[in-house]
Amino acid sequence: MVTERIKNITPSATCELEGTVAELEAAGVHVIGLNAGEPDFRTPDNIVEACDRAIAEGKTKYVSITGIPELKRAICAKLEKDNGVHYEPNCIAISTGAKQALYNGIMTVVEPGDEVIIPIPAWVSYVEMVKLAQGVPVLCDLAEDYQLDLAEIEKSITPKTKAIIINTPNNPTGGVYTEESLRALADLAVKHDFFIISDEVYEKLIYNGKKHFCVASVSPEVRDRTILINGFSKAYAMTGWRIGYSATTPELCKGISDLQGHTTSNSTTFVQWAALEALTGQQETVEYMRTKFVERREYLYKRLAAMPGIECQSVDGAFYLFPDVSSYFGKSWGKWEIKTSTDLCAYLLDEAHLAVVPGDAFYAPKKIRIAYSNSLENIREGMDAREAALAKLK
Ligand code: PMP
Ligand code: GLU
Repeated sequence: MVTERIKNITPSATCELEGTVAELEAAGVHVIGLNAGEPDFRTPDNIVEACDRAIAEGKTKYVSITGIPELKRAICAKLEKDNGVHYEPNCIAISTGAKQALYNGIMTVVEPGDEVIIPIPAWVSYVEMVKLAQGVPVLCDLAEDYQLDLAEIEKSITPKTKAIIINTPNNPTGGVYTEESLRALADLAVKHDFFIISDEVYEKLIYNGKKHFCVASVSPEVRDRTILINGFSKAYAMTGWRIGYSATTPELCKGISDLQGHTTSNSTTFVQWAALEALTGQQETVEYMRTKFVERREYLYKRLAAMPGIECQSVDGAFYLFPDVSSYFGKSWGKWEIKTSTDLCAYLLDEAHLAVVPGDAFYAPKKIRIAYSNSLENIREGMDAREAALAKLK
């Protein structure tokens, strides 16, 4: 019998849809996948070669739970240089993906009954992770322009507030939080004594001259109440390698290590050597991929702006656009009656063989998420198919 704890989980809509697309492809259906938050690029050669070298050199054994010292030092150097925040290696825990780093961080600070504020729209896994820690997710709306709404956050704070989870650049909205709003959030965290769990996995994917601001850089005091999460999946096209990390106080890092020591132990040893090359080797490929995302973003935005009944904000980060499609609710075609974003996405998959993620999964029922991490050709094909399918709905 499955436990209540597990029964209580809403499965990951993003991961499940990926499975559905794979099944359809295996059955011979050509699906245009604008669903997955995954760069379509190959992992850069220098990283793959570093992995091959590590295996050939026998770097295939257990290492310290939180990772190899070389990578921890490189992460400290990166956080200092890119983010202006100082950490010692005993503050760094390398995990199996940013996903595990997040889960470990939440498990380490959230007691049963503690409240965790989650601005919505939000990525699918935060609420479920908080529930698994027996915490209480407190959902609070982002502003209309996908920025933090400090007044809403302040209203959500109670004596039970233990943490807030923020994500900038944001999945699913693509929004990039301003430095000013992050400084104001840091003030609130100090004043009301809560942690900031700051998911920065899309840090390198920013456009239009906007800059990423790391909340932990506000002051040592704010750093010490932040669990900073980052990884390699998005910037280095390393989704399948499963490596990410957290940076926080030595005390919390020890907690994260103790948990990881009984679950997965160290993340794959030779992958850590590859990640070291990712951080310390050439960075031109990161910029190359970013410029490709710029092109794709502009194209997708133009196509969406030209579609009747679609309202889409222009945002500056990650690789998602998150248009409002609610003008299609109440329309129908054949057996299809569109009442929700989930219905619309099911219709688009069936009719247009286009996979996109319903806003319902991100607590934004009027929206759908379109990822432009796929090729320009696929985005073009996807938008053509989508336009034709939407035109049938009356
Ligand atoms: N945070 C966000 C906002 C994400 O979109 C994802 C999805 N990959 C993750 C964390 C997890 O990343 P990783 O692949 O490093 O586990
Ligand atoms: N984060 C990506 C997405 O939102 C990958 C799937 C997942 O881990 O949720 O599509």
